[in-house]
Amino acid sequence: MSNPSSLSQEERLAFLSKRHIGDKDIVKNVAICGGTHGNELNGVHLTEYFQRSRGKLFRKSFDVHPVLVNKEAIAACRRYIDQDINRVFTLDNLTVSVDADEEGGGSAEDDDDITYELRRARQLDKELGPKASPTPRMDFVLDLHNTTANMHTTLIFAPGDAFAFEVAAAMSLLEPTIKTVTWPKDEEPCFLPTVARSGMTVEVGPVPHGTLKADLLLDTKRLLLHALDYIELRNNLLSEKEALKRARQQSCTLEVYERIGTVPFPRDSLGEIRGAIHPDLDEKDFCALKNGMNAFEMFDDTTRHFHIGDIQATGQDESIKPSPGEKEAAEPSSMPPTDPDDAGMMTADTRNDLYALFVNEAAYYEKDVAFWVATMRQKSISVYVTGEE
Ligand SMILES: [Zn+2]
Repeated sequence: MSNPSSLSQEERLAFLSKRHIGDKDIVKNVAICGGTHGNELNGVHLTEYFQRSRGKLFRKSFDVHPVLVNKEAIAACRRYIDQDINRVFTLDNLTVSVDADEEGGGSAEDDDDITYELRRARQLDKELGPKASPTPRMDFVLDLHNTTANMHTTLIFAPGDAFAFEVAAAMSLLEPTIKTVTWPKDEEPCFLPTVARSGMTVEVGPVPHGTLKADLLLDTKRLLLHALDYIELRNNLLSEKEALKRARQQSCTLEVYERIGTVPFPRDSLGEIRGAIHPDLDEKDFCALKNGMNAFEMFDDTTRHFHIGDIQATGQDESIKPSPGEKEAAEPSSMPPTDPDDAGMMTADTRNDLYALFVNEAAYYEKDVAFWVATMRQKSISVYVTGEE
């Protein structure tokens, strides 16, 4: 692909979903990535651990590559240096310099003019991708993150990535509390795993930024090794017709969450936060959101409730950060009393139950996101299990 800017969102999504690992495809290369956010230390240390202990990653049928992502942010123990690297892996961002090279005129942009993260993303795209290629180097990327929210182990990936669903289901056999979340289905995903054919973000929490949590670190290590074992088992079965005929399968049911929007913090006319997430909601990730439930403990000793109308639709929250002056602000004390049965706030699109995710994630304060709002469905997936029919 030489000029992705000519592609519509639909064409980009079609291109990316066509390259996902198919149900007969053997996996040859897997990357385990850590430190995409430099202060999410469990992922950093697991990746360094695997770099020192490569024997743990050895599988006969495929290669595993441990990769530290945002090296400068890791050294500084910060989420990023100039910008969030996990928002820059778009076809447009990654293919600009390739085009310029092909034209023989050198890079269209001086390296000094672009952010550290964009430079690093382009290096990683060469090592692990390219995203614009139908045959990137990596078949599968597991990108390790930590969240300050109480998300336990949550796997996040493209809604059409059947292989990611299969690996998630295999991991859920070991850890049944695993949840899955899909990336928005209408826009090109901008996350690191999208440089590979298939991939997932592994979110584990709660872990405060800049700290390590041994129990969660060990859980994640166990799950990753289990995922590698599953890929090995699947590769072996797919490469031997007779074995595949006799292979045993098991059905797993996953909870699949889809973000429909986010709820911002209550702020005053100067843009200052005027309340904290209410104890009824804080640390209650994946709880059902009820219209009228307590959402914020306000600094003037009142309570602000959740209403469907507070949700900002996906796509309007992270890229566009309103300046305080632009924000519609109401003094908390001037809030009208709320009625839990206020059906007038409901719309026809909100019949489904809603759930809160990434509640009080520290990195989302700068994005003005107090929590995500998601819908949930259940999905059954068949996975191979050891032993014969
Ligand atoms: Zn992260």
